[in-house]
Amino acid sequence: MAIQHVDLLTIGAGGGAYPAAFRLAQAGRSVIMVDPKGAMSGNCLYEGCVPSKAIRETAEIYQSQQRLAGHGLAGAISIDFTKITMHKDAVQARRYEQHAAELAAARNIKLIQGTARLLGLHEVAVNTTDGEQRFHCAQIIIASGSDVFIPPIPGAELCLTSHDLYKPDSVLKTLPERLIVIGGGYIGLETATFFAALGTRVTLLQKGEQLLSGMDPGMVTLLTPLLDPAIRIRTGVDVTAVTLTPEGGRRVHYTRAEETDTLDGDVVLMAVGRRPVIPVGTTEIGIAVTEKGIDVGPSLQTVHPHIYACGDVNGRVPLFHAAVRQSMVAAHNILGGNIPLDYADFNHVPTTVFTLPAAAYVGLTPALAEAQGIKLRTGRYDFAEDSRAQILERMEGGIQLFFAADSLRLLGGWVVGIDAGQLIGQIGTAAAHGLTAYDLARFADQHPMSAEGIGKAARSLF
Ligand code: ADP
Repeated sequence: MAIQHVDLLTIGAGGGAYPAAFRLAQAGRSVIMVDPKGAMSGNCLYEGCVPSKAIRETAEIYQSQQRLAGHGLAGAISIDFTKITMHKDAVQARRYEQHAAELAAARNIKLIQGTARLLGLHEVAVNTTDGEQRFHCAQIIIASGSDVFIPPIPGAELCLTSHDLYKPDSVLKTLPERLIVIGGGYIGLETATFFAALGTRVTLLQKGEQLLSGMDPGMVTLLTPLLDPAIRIRTGVDVTAVTLTPEGGRRVHYTRAEETDTLDGDVVLMAVGRRPVIPVGTTEIGIAVTEKGIDVGPSLQTVHPHIYACGDVNGRVPLFHAAVRQSMVAAHNILGGNIPLDYADFNHVPTTVFTLPAAAYVGLTPALAEAQGIKLRTGRYDFAEDSRAQILERMEGGIQLFFAADSLRLLGGWVVGIDAGQLIGQIGTAAAHGLTAYDLARFADQHPMSAEGIGKAARSLF
């Protein structure tokens, strides 16, 4: 079999792969991307961030209309869930077309629809429907992402996953009357709030006592009472099985405080986490893999300097935008001859839980600071006093900024409520670039936008 030589091969064509692929191709290097989807942008567009937000935004608009009913926006909007999913599909299709056009316009780069496995330090085999192709690669980026984790619970196959809910031409075409969500992580909680806003009766079952485990308990405590009280949240629940009801619905069996019980729903969403997808051959060539993923540091290099692991597969910050930045770091280091000259900052990646309302954080938050013995001073701003929040009847939540107690350098922050996903980017930029409370206090942020709360939170210290 002929072995083709390439400068870079990426395993996957998602956020961890294609930014580097394009950067290297632009610099005149030959690049192959391999992905079973045969399209760029990985799981984010296929079943993650983008389609879930297409559903979320329609649910939020519906909620806003209800909130402003009686303020000149009388009359209920009706919901057609089938059309909402068609809108989601159309957004996905539009973006796939856009990516296809970008690829067609690029030189030195080819996307192969297939699955890659590592044969050696420079050798990759790609299985396609037309057989196997072999490559000798000067550099490799492993960016195979992550996949839904299905726990070994009897009847788990009766549940839907985020893949089923959000993929193109998704499984659920009508709004279920009763939805049971297993898992109180960000995917489960977000989905619970979207469906509750659209009118579904939602029950969420969480194993531990805290929702969004792993996130700062202080932020979670602020968010929890703001969630739709119609969502029944049960913590300390251990799901033991899922069965069919005689009517064809789903019955979730669980134990809680040593009592066993069942709960019936029309649809059950299994959302207990994601796991890295490790290409075949990875450990065989000496690359260490833990439960979180492939072990890499900020240069994104594995133990072999010419093999990189970017995005969800390394488990460092499993978010699309983190993967994109990591991919660029890998590209820069490849262009530098695999001698690191660029490093990813894993600490300043904005993270948003897109619940209704949303909660977002970046950098050092109080729980982490306490664990590290770092003293903080907190600047606060309450959306109750915010003009935009008042205009939109969205006065819940607020902004908190965490500064080093001695230098007043911004170390992190969180936002719960209106525009959280937007504001956290600005806070993250400020923290990543070492701005202080004085810098933020002196900046004239725009009125009447919620961003003016950032300066006001800084000024609350003086
Ligand atoms: P990230 O944002 O971390 O790059 P994604 O999950 O969005 O991750 O994208 C990873 C892509 O890699 C997915 O489209 C997935 O199907 C693909 N993939 C997973 N395993 C392989 C493999 N062995 N060969 C090629 N592509 C793979």
